Amino acid sequence: MQNILDYSLDELKQWMILNDESGFRAKQTYNWLYKKAWDFNEMKNLNNSTISKLNANFYVGIPKIIDKYLSKDGTIKYLLAYSDGNIVECVVMKYEYGNSICVSTQVGCRMGCKFCASTLEGRIRDLTAGEILSQILVAENDIEERISNIVLMGSGEPLDNYDNVIKFINLVNSPDGLNIGQRHITLSTCGIVPKIYELADLRYQITLAISLHSVEDIRRQSIMPIANKYSIEEILNACKYYYECTKRRITFEYALVKDVNDSDEDALMLCKLLKDILCHVNLIPINEIKEKSFKKSNNKSVERFLNIIKNNGIEATVRREMGSDINAACGQLRRSYIETQRYE
Ligand code: SAH
Repeated sequence: MQNILDYSLDELKQWMILNDESGFRAKQTYNWLYKKAWDFNEMKNLNNSTISKLNANFYVGIPKIIDKYLSKDGTIKYLLAYSDGNIVECVVMKYEYGNSICVSTQVGCRMGCKFCASTLEGRIRDLTAGEILSQILVAENDIEERISNIVLMGSGEPLDNYDNVIKFINLVNSPDGLNIGQRHITLSTCGIVPKIYELADLRYQITLAISLHSVEDIRRQSIMPIANKYSIEEILNACKYYYECTKRRITFEYALVKDVNDSDEDALMLCKLLKDILCHVNLIPINEIKEKSFKKSNNKSVERFLNIIKNNGIEATVRREMGSDINAACGQLRRSYIETQRYE
């Protein structure tokens, strides 16, 4: 049995033809799926032969909502279970310009960033393109509204699951699918350099976000193991190449940790590093996770850091802390769920 959500419309068309069905049945099936009809038997304009072939070969891989948390600011966090029992999180954020969703790309993560809750037990498995897509379908169905922006910033390292993530982007771009344009998609990476070059060569119009978090290799290595493999200089060169290929402004994420990377000197070094790159800096007051001792920078330091960057002509914003009352950040919910299961 295969998850039909992993199929593009063209692939489904090929499948129909190979299975002695008319190609146009693919489009009909696809329309139902995106209208959130997830039972082949309910697809009224299909004939019995098509329906029975679909039933015999496919399932619709929609995860089950096992928990849902609503924040005071409107953010909704979902805990979703796939059919094999694996659990991921996704978060819907409501902005003036529309709904945005943060999706997970892997169950767990093997990048080992010291401040992140998603990686504490390593990577369990990659998600397929259809499984990533299904997070959006299930959320749209639940809120009964369209989602227009996607950030790949949930659990997992998107560039460590490259082929599935690229296929996911193609699926959501499809006018017959969710029809979400590339400019409405942001991919965040801890900096897997060769994959940044590969992505740049596709010339997609998605926004690349780099989790930089540190201005010196030595300090970056102490919080992000990937920094032992690729230097900041190598990452920045890859970003310049990405810009040359796509003309897209790069986002740099910088999580501020009290007394670790939030000094004036750090801010100035950051400006120096980024001076030849058209970019936007996103400052994130770090989310304290209970497994680690990192402390969040205080508001005053965040403000000072922000002003230094802006005064050096680099555009910067502080990420609004949405959903912090519901553990909406970075794998915390899945972990607390798994922990309570363990102790029950
Ligand atoms: N693996 C990708 C995307 C997932 S993490 C990446 O590394 O970019 C999304 C963002 O959240 C990254 O910038 C990550 O460094 C950051 N993050 C992880 N844990 C965090 C925490 N406890 N507080 C603040 N940001 C965190």
